[in-house]
Amino acid sequence: MTAPMIDIKHHLTDNLLMAYSAGTLPEGFNLVVATHISFCDECRAHMHEFDAVGGAIMAAEDPIAMSDNSFSATLDLIENSDVLTPFRHISSGSFPTPLQEYVGGDLDAVKWRKVGGGVRQAILKTDKSTSVRLLHIPAGAAVPDHGHRGTELTLVLQGAFSDKTDSFYKGDIEVATEDLNHQPIAEMGEDCICLAATDAPLRFNSLIPRLLQPFLQI
Ligand code: ZN
Ligand code: ZN
Repeated sequence: MTAPMIDIKHHLTDNLLMAYSAGTLPEGFNLVVATHISFCDECRAHMHEFDAVGGAIMAAEDPIAMSDNSFSATLDLIENSDVLTPFRHISSGSFPTPLQEYVGGDLDAVKWRKVGGGVRQAILKTDKSTSVRLLHIPAGAAVPDHGHRGTELTLVLQGAFSDKTDSFYKGDIEVATEDLNHQPIAEMGEDCICLAATDAPLRFNSLIPRLLQPFLQI
């Protein structure tokens, strides 16, 4: 049986893909990007282009000596290169392999903790540069509204959520930055499970989440 096609609308930015390809992302963002790429043929193909361009630049000993057709030669190289052979990290379970390595198994291995309002989380162990968690939001429930002091990457693994910007379905990634204030709400019908990473604490707008924030490490 082949995996069902998923229709992904919200993708990684070029900046994230380039940094991933160059190996300069913090660990938590690296995990979210790798997990999205496991789902997404389009971003995987882009990543291979960045990999190939990066490799070509590194291989060019004397950039001044590059001929006029070096760019098209590079594109030919990418086109005909076997690094473009699609690969899939998707394993037999519901979590892609990069995520399973952090969870220590699949969905049933996750150790959830209640965080209020029916929402549960499981913090994944990474280095201190980012904070990474799985979120379980019951269908129709909301995450408290908040702003961001840095970047927040949220990848949908099951179900869907909406905020004022759009709706996000399985495989979609939302890249939230300091200019966004939002309240993600899980769609009705199915509980929503997300993988989220932040590089700075969130800015909650109401008191209770703000008081709980240090305990929730969010
Ligand atoms: Zn994508
Ligand atoms: Zn957010």
